[in-house]
Amino acid sequence: MSYVDKVLEKIEEKNRGEPEFIQAATEILESLRPMFGLNPEYEKAALLERILIPERAIIFRVPWVDDEGKIRVHKGFRVQFNSAVGPYKGGIRFHPSVNLSVMKFLAFEQIFKNGLTGLSIGGAKGGSNFNPKGKSDNEIMSFCQSFMSELYKYIGPDTDVPAGDIGVGGREIGYLFGQYKKLTGIHAGVLTGAGLDFGGSYVRTEATGYGLGYIMDNALKARGESFEGKDVVISGSGNVAIYAAEKVEQLGGKVISMSDSSGYIHDPDGISLADVKQLKEVERKRISEYAELKPNAEFYCGCSDIWNLPCDVALPCATQNELDTKSAETLISNGVKYVGEGANMPTTLEATNKFLDAGIILLPGKAANAGGVATSALEMSQRSMRIPWTFEEVDKKLQDIMSGIYKNIDTAAAEHGFKDNYIRGANIAGFLKVSRAMMAQGVV
Ligand code: GLU
Repeated sequence: MSYVDKVLEKIEEKNRGEPEFIQAATEILESLRPMFGLNPEYEKAALLERILIPERAIIFRVPWVDDEGKIRVHKGFRVQFNSAVGPYKGGIRFHPSVNLSVMKFLAFEQIFKNGLTGLSIGGAKGGSNFNPKGKSDNEIMSFCQSFMSELYKYIGPDTDVPAGDIGVGGREIGYLFGQYKKLTGIHAGVLTGAGLDFGGSYVRTEATGYGLGYIMDNALKARGESFEGKDVVISGSGNVAIYAAEKVEQLGGKVISMSDSSGYIHDPDGISLADVKQLKEVERKRISEYAELKPNAEFYCGCSDIWNLPCDVALPCATQNELDTKSAETLISNGVKYVGEGANMPTTLEATNKFLDAGIILLPGKAANAGGVATSALEMSQRSMRIPWTFEEVDKKLQDIMSGIYKNIDTAAAEHGFKDNYIRGANIAGFLKVSRAMMAQGVV
């Protein structure tokens, strides 16, 4: 039995009750198969057994008081998965679906994503099952302060640098940072996505979505195409989706649909981003209200039906496993040619295989959405130097990083005999970087 098969066989048994983590680990291991027969030293070093266990997972209590004076309690997590390449780096997610399995899958993906950026950052993820929806500013602040009152013990500019993710944006990072500084008395670069007034970086807000636009542009250009004249469907309407839409429009594409957890809007004239930004970023309202502003736009309940819309390019930017086999089949029969994952693991394993079998170009999240964390690393550099770069400087670096990632995954796929299979390409290229660092550092 091969080394990969031996490890795969035990994955379920060793991670009971963690379906998302098992899914992410299985996808990576399956991709790595062709490398292992040739490299017996990995098995000797028990590399896969080591890489599949987090260096550390912290679970903590987050008590806080709501506006009615009621005491509420949530679970907090920080999974520090792998620090071979650099200090732990990865976002914090506040969403009711957060549990240990989701945290482990995200932190695991983050290891390889961060490896692909070419920058010195290890993999981690954190979060809470706290639901920020409908909470007042004061409640968000109380929660963030309580969360940081425990987390501050485990983070630092050279150990672990969290950032935002679903449910955690500029407002939350501000409150988290304020509490960190109050507890430690140190104005350190311990969180990225900070406000521009206290150590943040230009382009960090836009980076994940812009990066997705840039890498897809690379994939299109490599095939003699461009966004020009293409219909694009983007799920989600959070930070990633909004700035992916902005970049797609700048590159000549037409975004015809966006969504939130209640349903999706279809605007055949092309989505007006100014209206989406006003609704989602300023007023924090439902996407359904967009249809009331635009006579030609329609709102439909149920978010997965967004994939029934015919399009050339699909960009799932909402959440994990949002795109299943049925959606993949519909997209394929409607003529989709390119899929780029703005979210982490939005496509199920079966749907991924459907796309690959149909010859669709699929850019996986760990490559396609790496622009966010890469720009976080650029924020860390600026913070250390205490000299900020301009918007144009950071944007240029982001473009170069995304082109580098595209070349890297394209070459890795082709060299291992899987041309155009970017799932394999990203997993192999990410793994090679991390495994080299682990092998060099001995049995730790
Ligand atoms: N949450 C983002 C991600 O999934 C960004 C993480 C970061 O900037 O540290 O990559």
